[in-house]
Amino acid sequence: MSNDLLNAAERTAIQRLAKALALPAFDKGWVWLAGAGPGDPGLITALGLHAIANANAILYDALVDKTLLKLARPGAELVYAGKRAGRNSCKQSDISRTLVSLARKGKRVLRLKGGDPFVFGRGAEEALTLARAGVPFRIVPGITAGIGGLAYAGIPLTHRDTNHVVTFLTGHGADGKLPKLDWAAIAKGSPTIVLYMARKYAGEIAAKLIAAGRDAGEPAAVVGNASFADQNVRVTTLAELGQAAAESAAPAILIVGENVKLRDSLDWLGALAGKKLAPEPYDDEVLRPIAHVLTST
Ligand code: SAH
Repeated sequence: MSNDLLNAAERTAIQRLAKALALPAFDKGWVWLAGAGPGDPGLITALGLHAIANANAILYDALVDKTLLKLARPGAELVYAGKRAGRNSCKQSDISRTLVSLARKGKRVLRLKGGDPFVFGRGAEEALTLARAGVPFRIVPGITAGIGGLAYAGIPLTHRDTNHVVTFLTGHGADGKLPKLDWAAIAKGSPTIVLYMARKYAGEIAAKLIAAGRDAGEPAAVVGNASFADQNVRVTTLAELGQAAAESAAPAILIVGENVKLRDSLDWLGALAGKKLAPEPYDDEVLRPIAHVLTST
C-alpha cells in the first residue's frame, strides 16, 4: 500500500484545493466522521478528501473503496473497522472507544464510513460517544447509497409525475430482525420506497406491502454494488423482489416505485457501455402516476 501513496506534488495539489475552497483545518485531537459515498471513489466530497489527506489515523469501513486510502499521509495509521453481517467484525463499542483514545492522544482521527455517516450507518452512535467523552468532532456528510447508488442505476428518486414523497427504510433492526414498521402507512403514503439492508427480508417486505394494497406488478429494482465497477441492476416487480434480492450481490439497495421505469431512458452508465436509451419512457401508458392516487385520498 505504501508504494501507492501520493507523491509530494499530488499532496500539495490537495492542500491547494483545501485552501482554494477555504476548508476548515483538521486540528489535532479532533475526530471527523466522514462519508465516503456509496462506492465510486469519485463520489467522496472535497471535505472528505481533505480529511483523508490530513488524518493521522483512519478507521474505515468495509464499504469504503480502498483506493481512497492512497490519499492518506505517509505514516497514517489505517485501521479496518468493518462491520458486515455474519462476518468477523469489530464491536461498535470497540470502535467508539478507539476513536476516543486516539483523539485523546492528540491525533487527527478520521472515521470514514460508506455513504453518509448519519444514514443507517451508526454514525450517530459514534458521534454520541464522542459528545459524551467531550471529544470535539465534525460531521462530513457523504452521498448515501439510496440516492447516489440509485442515480448510478439511472433511477431518479423523484419525478414530478411519479412521486412527491420518498421513504427510506432499513430492513435490519438493531436485533437483526425486520424492524416493526407501520407497513400500511408506508404502502399508502409513499409511492417510492428505498430499502437499505433489506436483501434478507425483501420477500417478506414485499408481501407486507402487497397485503397493504400495493400492486404486485409494480416496478422495483435491486442495485448490487452500486457505483462500483461491478454494479449490477435487476429490474423486477414487487412480487419478485425477494427473488431478485436473493440473486443480487451484496451490498444492495432496493427500490419500489414507478420511477424505476425511468431507467429505460436514464441509464446513463448503460449508455456508456453501448445500451440504447429509450427516447420517451414517459407517457401515461407506461408511467402510471400513482402519487395522485395515494395522496388524493
Ligand atoms: N451509511 C450508508 C448505509 C450503511 S447501511 C449510506 O449512507 O449509504 C449498509 C447498506 O447500505 C447496505 O446493506 C445497502 O443496502 C446500502 N449500500 C451501501 N453501499 C452500497 C452500494 N455500493 N451498493 C448498494 N447498496 C449499498
